[in-house]
Formats: sequence, structure tokens, C-alpha cells
Amino acid sequence: MTSIDNFSKLCVHTQTTKPWTIEECISHFSAAGIKGISIWRHLLEGKDLKSIKAMLDAHQMEVVSLVRGGFFPAVDAEQRDLALEDNRLAIDQAAALGAPLVVLVCGADPRQSLEISRQQIQKGITALIPHAQNNGVKLAIEPLHPMYAGDKSALVSLGQANDICEAIASLWVGIAIDVYHLWWDNELKNEIIRCGKNKNILAFHVCDWRVPTIDFLTDRGLMGEGCIPIRQIRMWLEEAGFDGYNEVEVFSERLWAQDQKLYLEDIKKSYLNYT
Ligand code: ZN
Repeated sequence: MTSIDNFSKLCVHTQTTKPWTIEECISHFSAAGIKGISIWRHLLEGKDLKSIKAMLDAHQMEVVSLVRGGFFPAVDAEQRDLALEDNRLAIDQAAALGAPLVVLVCGADPRQSLEISRQQIQKGITALIPHAQNNGVKLAIEPLHPMYAGDKSALVSLGQANDICEAIASLWVGIAIDVYHLWWDNELKNEIIRCGKNKNILAFHVCDWRVPTIDFLTDRGLMGEGCIPIRQIRMWLEEAGFDGYNEVEVFSERLWAQDQKLYLEDIKKSYLNYT
């Protein structure tokens, strides 16, 4: 398997270095030679998007994605409408920052069946397509690990995400493949090939699965700290035609507690050695 020998396709999610502001992420990532950034929306609250865009341009940073929209299912119609409104705002923000896509954590409502939630997800994404197209922003469905099926995502495998993408059949809708959520699936390789044939692989997220995992949300590992065959999965994506950024997305109380500048150097080492 081919290893990576440079940082030209390294992207870091702002949530990976959670203690930093958006301005700190931009300047420190850039100083570390990192070209790609995926921006989490809460960092934009109260900020002037034009000045953030100017700062990104001044540092020659490429915005890989805006994270995140989604959360379509709800028992109440009013709540579903509010979700659509928020997703339109996310698309506007992505366009303002030059982000080519919005990542969708699609949601689930534990008061209804997963099947109904999946129908509402499909309906919600379909309703957003005109706005996405008008703004030149794609929508990337991110299937999550089944442990989040209760309230975060009724889509828990790449097969389900491929099904919904094929049903929607729009150039503006594709998939974000995250190793943390999908590594366990024995159909993963086949589903990556299927996703690539449809030209639907829009993003690739990496981190590692620690054993034992002590928290479902904030105990992700840096690449090499766990049991995910990250390099193998990256090779499958590349064989399927993907040539975009490798996005480091790690949520970890343990790693957030460290000096974030030193941690960024560890991220780079781990990226070369294990991605
Ligand atoms: Zn992800």
C-alpha cells in the first residue's frame, strides 16, 4: 500500500483543535503548512463572513467543507421546516466562505421509526437541491456509526447512503465517507466502489477507533492509535476515483487538553505514518 509523502491533501477540521477560534485555526494551520480546512459552523457565530473569507484567502487556505447541516427528521412538521431553514443558511454560509460542500449529519427522531426518519431525510435533502444548485454548493450525506442511530443519524451504513443518493440522483448530492463510522462494515469496499461509480464520493474523514473507547462522542483517536485500517480504506477510495483531501476529524477531550500547536505536529506525523 502506498503511503502519503507530503501534506498537499491534508485538511484539518476546526473541531479537531477545538480550543482554537476560527482565526487561530486559520493562522496556525497555515503556519504548519496545512492547506485544507473544514470549518465547523459554531465558530462562525457573531463573525463577519467577509473578513473570515479575506483571512482564508490571505493565508491561501482552501475551505474543503462546512460542517454541518442536516437533522431533517422530526415528528413535528414545524421542526422539519426549521431544519430546512437552517440548512439553507448553512448553504449560504458555505457559499460566502467558498466552501464547495456542506456536510450533512442527517438526524433521527427517536419518537418515530428509522424508516420514517429515512423518508424524511430523503424529502428534506430533495427540497434543498434548488438552493444548493443556485449557490454552487454540494450536499454531502455522512452516514454515522450505528451507535448514533437513536437521535443523530438514521443512515448508519454506506449502503444506506448509496441507496438514498441513487434515489435522489442529483449532481448536487453525494457522500462524505468517515472511517470512524464505517470501518466495521464488511460491505465497505463494495459500497465504496459503488459510490465511486456514481461519482458520489465528495469527502473523506479520518481518525481512529480506540480500544476500549471510553466516550461515544469525544474519545476518537489520532490515526494509528486504534484499530481502523485507515490506509487500506484510503486506497479503496482512490481506486474508486477519489482524489480530494484527507480530512483529519478527531474529537478527543484527551487531545484537546494538550498544547494545540504541539498536537498539530503530532497530527502531521500521524497523517504521514498511518493514513
Ligand atoms: Zn466525519
